[in-house]
Amino acid sequence: MRRALKKFPNIADPGADRILLFGGMSPVAAVPSNNPHVLVRIQSGPEGKNYGETYRKAQQMIAEGVPATFDVRMRAYLLLKQHGQQICKRTRPKCHACPVARHCKQAAMVSLRFVGS
Ligand code: SF4
Repeated sequence: MRRALKKFPNIADPGADRILLFGGMSPVAAVPSNNPHVLVRIQSGPEGKNYGETYRKAQQMIAEGVPATFDVRMRAYLLLKQHGQQICKRTRPKCHACPVARHCKQAAMVSLRFVGS
């Protein structure tokens, strides 16, 4: 079904996944298209080498860690989107104001760099 959706203009993997999830077709591991870096930073630290790799990493994390139900995956999607828009911005994330900073691998790596310098 994802392949069929991608035949429409301007629909790539993130758009197709969002339609599948929020359209109630399949509880796929959709990742907000503007914020695939959020979950990757929290769980593993550095982002992928490019957008596609980061998106796939985030998708795998959701697939493995978030129950495959519409409600839970939609909630995860919306929380990641909001967090990326407000706090964990692509450039200059507001780690000092982040409620998950204590659990974030990226934040731990950054503070270790400061300790070592
Ligand atoms: S601590 Fe910083 S890098 Fe980690 S999730 Fe929060 S804003 Fe993003």
